[in-house]
Amino acid sequence: MSSPVPPGPQASSPLFPVFADLHGRGVLVVGGGTVALRKTAALLEAGARVRVGAPALNAELATMAARGDIEHLSGHFTPQWLDDAWLAIAATDDDGVNRAVAEAGEARRIWVNVVDDARASSVQIPARVDRGPLQVAISSGGAAPMLARHLRQMLETQLDASLGELARLLGRERERIRTRFPQLGARRAFFDRLLRGNVPTLLRKRQHLAAEREFTALLHDAGTTSRGSVALVGAGPGDAGLLTLRALRVLNEADVILHDRLVSDEVLQLVRRDAQRIEVGKQAGNHHATQAQIHALMLEHASQGKRVVRLKGGDPFVFGRGGEELEVLRANGIDFEVVPGITAAVACAAYAGVPLTHREHAQSVRLVTAHCKDSTDTLDWHALAQERQTLAVYMGVAGLDRFSARLIEHGRAASTPFAIVENGSRANQRVIVGALSELAQRARDHDVQSPALLIVGEVAALADTLHWFGAPPLRDAPAIAAAA
Ligand code: SAH
Repeated sequence: MSSPVPPGPQASSPLFPVFADLHGRGVLVVGGGTVALRKTAALLEAGARVRVGAPALNAELATMAARGDIEHLSGHFTPQWLDDAWLAIAATDDDGVNRAVAEAGEARRIWVNVVDDARASSVQIPARVDRGPLQVAISSGGAAPMLARHLRQMLETQLDASLGELARLLGRERERIRTRFPQLGARRAFFDRLLRGNVPTLLRKRQHLAAEREFTALLHDAGTTSRGSVALVGAGPGDAGLLTLRALRVLNEADVILHDRLVSDEVLQLVRRDAQRIEVGKQAGNHHATQAQIHALMLEHASQGKRVVRLKGGDPFVFGRGGEELEVLRANGIDFEVVPGITAAVACAAYAGVPLTHREHAQSVRLVTAHCKDSTDTLDWHALAQERQTLAVYMGVAGLDRFSARLIEHGRAASTPFAIVENGSRANQRVIVGALSELAQRARDHDVQSPALLIVGEVAALADTLHWFGAPPLRDAPAIAAAA
């Protein structure tokens, strides 16, 4: 006699979350395809003894069986397959078989999960975020698996991989912590100090020994708690989608943000709400803050124990004076980290459809600035004028006449294509293309404004065919200018 179909989740009573210890316990997987393989792999990772029942196994499962990692039950499902099982997973594409597994499990009080069928399952496998021993499991009780998946993705972006290391460290040190702080209150206070202190940061920097030492010091009240730190973060060119996950996490944790003018509003929207924002941007001729003032601000806030983010456009180490800022921090004993960003050359080229290198046109790229501390005359014009290379020129809007003249003087063809990318990756991006000899005139015709990046080289011509973002490149003078 078969028992009734398992009831499935009831809207009125939510599921009860459980983390199961499957180590050494028998689990049955019914099915021999890719879904069964995925489940089997996860079960093996949890230490389960897995038996896979199916008339035939796919190649990977067959290999596992041959290696003895799993046991293969050959043939069609019979309730005897459940002998010895604590849990079963029905992962076939045959509803009848899946239902038979569910019913047989119900009769024997064995939990059964039917993949992608919450109603037929007595136990559900949650979406999860895995950080070693630390696991976040998410379930919508079968009501909205997509929502659970969405949440999982959000958490994946926010939870750093080093959280697993932290959980492992705390696991290893559990006894020591309990012995040192037998009282719950004192233990809580210790954890608070620990989590706010430098141990998580050191683990994130993959400095495990230093983290252990700091932990021990903290355990004996000698740790350097809340010392304050600075993260030098690249915000990319503007499109917030080009931030790295690391940048996003750091922005989420910041107490103070010192940002350049070049950092887009879209990116600033992502900063922790109650963080203090200070614009320290510098623009040609309009210095909001001198470099010395920026150094002073970083030191002031970090030495108050705050987490400071120094947020810069593009990448902090590409024409960003990031090196100088780190030297100051270093000299003052302030901890720092660097989060790279997508630099303007890389972003503008991508968003204009200009491959910086190309087998047929350019084997190297030079990142240059036509506007640095020393004058343009210190540039090696002979080298810059060489063929088969791409120049990506930062901060060049002002000196374009001189720049193109010098290149041509030193042998680069007057017909070499250029592309100016203004406001690259932003909603108001413009791309202006032409030949080197007409560079300055075209920039004037279109009234090019900062920020703009100049690309010189054969590859620039590809913008005509490979553009995909915003408006197509502008080749001729604008209509008004032409009519005049
Ligand atoms: N650290 C930055 C560069 C700072 S110098 C980076 O790695 O990108 C500032 C110059 O960068 C600007 O004058 C301009 O040439 C270039 N730039 C930065 N953002 C840009 C953008 N969105 N579009 C075009 N050029 C940009």
